[in-house]
Amino acid sequence: MRRAGRMVAEILEMLREKVRPGVTTLQLDQLAEKQCIEWKARPAFKGYGGFPFTICASPNNQVVHGFANQDPLQEGDIISIDFGLIIDGFFGDSAVTIPVGKIDDATIQLLQVTQDSLKCGIAAALPGGHLSDISSAIQTCVEKDGFSVVREFVGHGIGRQLHEEPQIANYGVQGRGPKLKDGMTFAIEPMVNVGLPGVKVLEDGWTAVTIDGKQSAHFEHTIAITENGPEILTCLDR
Ligand code: MG
Ligand code: MG
Repeated sequence: MRRAGRMVAEILEMLREKVRPGVTTLQLDQLAEKQCIEWKARPAFKGYGGFPFTICASPNNQVVHGFANQDPLQEGDIISIDFGLIIDGFFGDSAVTIPVGKIDDATIQLLQVTQDSLKCGIAAALPGGHLSDISSAIQTCVEKDGFSVVREFVGHGIGRQLHEEPQIANYGVQGRGPKLKDGMTFAIEPMVNVGLPGVKVLEDGWTAVTIDGKQSAHFEHTIAITENGPEILTCLDR
């Protein structure tokens, strides 16, 4: 899983470097797929439940599961990219939200809070704790700054399958759910809205957008719980 996670992180970093006004999400999708093929890894999302792309590309008011397309990204946009792969029988799954050129201060804060909430969630993934300690840490971090946690989508166990038990909500009270143990591997993924927490799914059956049309951000890491605490598998510098 370290190997899978490292590959996911490297591909997301490669995509991050390409993001600028004028680039299309279809170009990013094709880059990610090409790199998977080169590394003999298989994209995890393409074909999953019929999902048609290698990355989920969700700009601005799209929350998750957006389709890559040929619309050029514009200065001031944000683009969430969710990406996973399987190599040697194990999955890695991670997401980042990237600014396109210069973004306004409120949007900078949205990205910062979402990323901070992921860090808080990961820091709560300690052996001996409970699953909902992660959920509670995320919700507390998001709501202290007046942002909203999306309820409809959750983090998940991950390993030999992309989505395993348990589901990991991004809200809740501490001390509930299974006890956390050394060796568990999770994908933790807060989705945070500027406005209302509600989402709706578009007619394509996949693209989730905010109910009020305001912006949303998404960050995700695959982590392992070790006896020394959480280890992030999907980052370049552990
Ligand atoms: Mg993901
Ligand atoms: Mg995931």
